[in-house]
Amino acid sequence: MLSLRVKLTLALLFTGLSGVIIVAVLVQRLTTAEFDHFVSEQERANFIADMAAYYEVYGSWENIQIAHGRLPIAPLPANLPPDGAFSRTPGPIRFMLVDQDGLVVIPDQGYAPGQPIAEADLQRADAVVVDGETVGYVIAGARWPERNTLEESYLGRINRILWWATGGAIALALLLSFLFARSLSRPLHEIAAAIRAFSRGDLTSQVPVRSRDEVGQVAAAFNQMSADLARANRLRRQMTADIAHELRTPLSVVVGYLASLSEGLLKPSPERLQIMHGEAQHLQRLVEDLRLLSLADAGELRLHRQWVAPGELISLAAVTFGHQAEQRHVTLDVQIEPDVPLLHADPDRILQVLSNLLSNALRHTPEQGRITLSARQQDGQIRLAVQDTGPGIAPEHLVHVFERFYRVDAARHQEQTESGLGLAIAKSLVEAHGGSISAASVVGQGTTVTLAFPPSPRREGR
Ligand code: ATP
Ligand code: MG
Repeated sequence: MLSLRVKLTLALLFTGLSGVIIVAVLVQRLTTAEFDHFVSEQERANFIADMAAYYEVYGSWENIQIAHGRLPIAPLPANLPPDGAFSRTPGPIRFMLVDQDGLVVIPDQGYAPGQPIAEADLQRADAVVVDGETVGYVIAGARWPERNTLEESYLGRINRILWWATGGAIALALLLSFLFARSLSRPLHEIAAAIRAFSRGDLTSQVPVRSRDEVGQVAAAFNQMSADLARANRLRRQMTADIAHELRTPLSVVVGYLASLSEGLLKPSPERLQIMHGEAQHLQRLVEDLRLLSLADAGELRLHRQWVAPGELISLAAVTFGHQAEQRHVTLDVQIEPDVPLLHADPDRILQVLSNLLSNALRHTPEQGRITLSARQQDGQIRLAVQDTGPGIAPEHLVHVFERFYRVDAARHQEQTESGLGLAIAKSLVEAHGGSISAASVVGQGTTVTLAFPPSPRREGR
């Protein structure tokens, strides 16, 4: 199979070649025709001048003689000027001469001497004028002018130059076609090599972007894909490591207790069983969270959507956490704007999100602090927000809080049961509803997490 480079080179070469050859042939034909035309015009002018000179000397056409179809006319008069007017017609005669009465003097084209010329032929005749008087007519003969050796060599030179120019143009076309084909096929070769390296497992492979055209765009798109996949791969590895790490602590606690209990080193007591139960519950929650995330990733999360009032969801969450807030001496404020449109959503999932946001807020809000839950419509979107007066999240952490297993203060959470999956799950659930989640925070003042949903398409009749 021919490579793209060869195919492109051949295609460009053939295109260039056909153009060059057509032009070369046309120029060659035109040059020859124009040259012949020029020569014959010159001959005709010379012949007319010769005839006029003859008539001027002899005063009639009577004694004009042609030897073997050639001029000059013998005998030449002695009073002819030295730079003789007859010297210009050395070749065979290719013209007819007709006298002023229209009778043929020098015949051609089937006419005999003395025969009257046809009106149609006289139409294309040139007058021979002596002293302002028309003394005869010259008409082109049937024969095409033959070129003499000088003219032939002149035409030959022109043709040689033309063929050299054609050869040069072909060589240039070949060189340019090759360079152009190479410039097109080279990035494709590089991309193909990078894809092969990619399939061998080198996810970092990149190709140089040499242009902004379509090929350059393919190279840039490949680089983007390669970078995205490398990032996804890194995140996957990180996630596996995080999961292993998260499972290890509670598992080692449970395994340690079970080993000591079975060896009789420890006696089972309600507190010890309570600890083991707590760790097992933590494991269970972790596994459940991971399952939820993987379902959301696969787009297989089942949402039991129904029409719900956002205010009701907010109130329900506030009631659920009311007791905890009271215990922590935190004020739980609820602000629900009137006329917030209904949301077509899975109420359990939205409540799950709000619960995580509320438990985060409660965990971070000091005593006498305030948590505000709100539902409103803004910029055409339905917005649910949880705002606290906690310590806030520094900008360098804020950009990562929705990542899986990301915890702002990892050390503080080490012994606690938070896994750093809450906001990642919240993001997945909100996005599964077609909404978005964002966090804004001012260190020392508090944090606001907002869920924004596009207005749900109305059911018919509502
Ligand atoms: P999980 O929710 O899985 O139990 P988590 O609460 O640690 O664990 P996320 O809810 O994802 O995890 O929160 C991520 C990080 O953001 C946490 O480390 C948490 O400290 C921080 N964070 C979340 N909400 C707030 C808030 N309102 N104020 C300050 N920090 C917050
Ligand atoms: Mg949380």
